[in-house]
Amino acid sequence: MTKLPDPDADAAAALRLLGPDPANWVPPRPGIDHDVAIIGGGQSGCAFAFALRRAGIARVSVIDMAEDATQAGIWLTSARMHVLRTPKTLPGPELGIPAFGFQAWYEARHGSDAYAAMARIPRPAWAEYLAWYRRFLAIPVRYRTRLLRIEPGAGHFRLHLETADGVTVETTRKIILANGFAGGGGVYVPPALSANLPRSFYAHTADAIDFASLRGKQVAVLGAAASAFDAAAVALEAGSAAVHLFARRPELAALPVARVRGYPGAYDNYPELPDRLRWQQALRFRRAGSTPPADAVERVVKFANFHLHLAAPWLSARRHRLFRRSGGPPRARRFRASHPAVARPVHTARGRGGRISRRPPLSRHGPRIPRTGAGHRPLPARHPRAEPVGLCQLRRPGRRRAEHEARPAGRRRTHQP
Ligand SMILES: Cc1cc2nc3c(=O)[nH]c(=O)nc-3n(C[C@H](O)[C@H](O)[C@H](O)COP(=O)(O)OP(=O)(O)OC[C@H]3O[C@@H](n4cnc5c(N)ncnc54)[C@H](O)[C@@H]3O)c2cc1C
Repeated sequence: MTKLPDPDADAAAALRLLGPDPANWVPPRPGIDHDVAIIGGGQSGCAFAFALRRAGIARVSVIDMAEDATQAGIWLTSARMHVLRTPKTLPGPELGIPAFGFQAWYEARHGSDAYAAMARIPRPAWAEYLAWYRRFLAIPVRYRTRLLRIEPGAGHFRLHLETADGVTVETTRKIILANGFAGGGGVYVPPALSANLPRSFYAHTADAIDFASLRGKQVAVLGAAASAFDAAAVALEAGSAAVHLFARRPELAALPVARVRGYPGAYDNYPELPDRLRWQQALRFRRAGSTPPADAVERVVKFANFHLHLAAPWLSARRHRLFRRSGGPPRARRFRASHPAVARPVHTARGRGGRISRRPPLSRHGPRIPRTGAGHRPLPARHPRAEPVGLCQLRRPGRRRAEHEARPAGRRRTHQP
């Protein structure tokens, strides 16, 4: 296939053949604003909005706290790798309709040879494709709208939303949480940093980081998985004097145990696995560690001013000084920089995924969300349990019936831990 004069022609033909959207079959209820509220307008939220529309559920509202479409999701914000970490063949939000998939979109614009030649999807191309998907399928997202709190009502939910005009309350029958890492517990900053340093001295990789301001400075990166190496690379490329990357493990994780989850069959059927097996997988992953992709490591080792410190967990941090363990008693390492060192905790096994019960929208419900691994040892269960139907359900204590559905688990593109 070569480039098409009208790159949207095939997608438009597929849309025509699909036929008009089915009529809404959900009877309206007095006092209910939405039949479904989708929290998060990233790729998952948009895919669910399209799927619901095709299922004849029309009163759906997608909200996102981001300023605008470019700030929603991770691809143009906190993701810093050149290419996606996942194989280009993984299904995306196209819902099984090839004309809406990445390959069709890309080939229509760049030709099939260009697609065949690409080993993995360039990150900006993936972001561009998602923007097209949202525009082409006309999925409306209400930006600058943050879910603050979910309050159960009589057979529905009240959503407390922060908007540009202030806090409002809207009602919905069902909720889909497509809120990315916030839904898995959010980011984690070790107390060694947060307790001792002013916020201006450190950032999480999920933050918008002004790398240009690190030019000529010594930078410390905490963590040795993919995002840590990506942040180190961008700091080096931005002209940092030196970047020191610290890991707790004595060697870099090299066994990609989570990769099998990238196979569509394994991914789609994951919620069918018994708890015991899921927990075994989680423990295996936890023990093996999250692997940095080879290209992320290659990107930093090109720089002579990149330094890797293994078996060097941080114990505490003070301005210009890190205390880390290396073999013996705590040792201080001073950064001899005329400017403050910027310590950056990044995507380690502990870099993301705090306790879901502490995340604002769900904090009231946290104790009632069934977790994968609850009752199993040795780690505390933190993540919502995906039910076989692909949904995690929230129950009132003592009741068997689900109150609402949260965090759809299947048919998303991610298999990243
Ligand atoms: C650095 C990095 C690299 C990754 N690389 C890959 C990869 O190569 N391949 C892959 O498959 N996966 C990758 N992932 C996983 C990736 O996050 C998902 O694949 C993808 O972004 C999931 O899309 P999503 O729509 O579920 O979540 P997101 O893209 O994270 O979108 C969630 C949205 O929810 C919004 N939101 C959150 N809380 C609220 C709230 N309270 N109110 C309103 N809106 C809210 C956010 O603003 C955001 O726009 C990576 C993740 C990271 C962090």
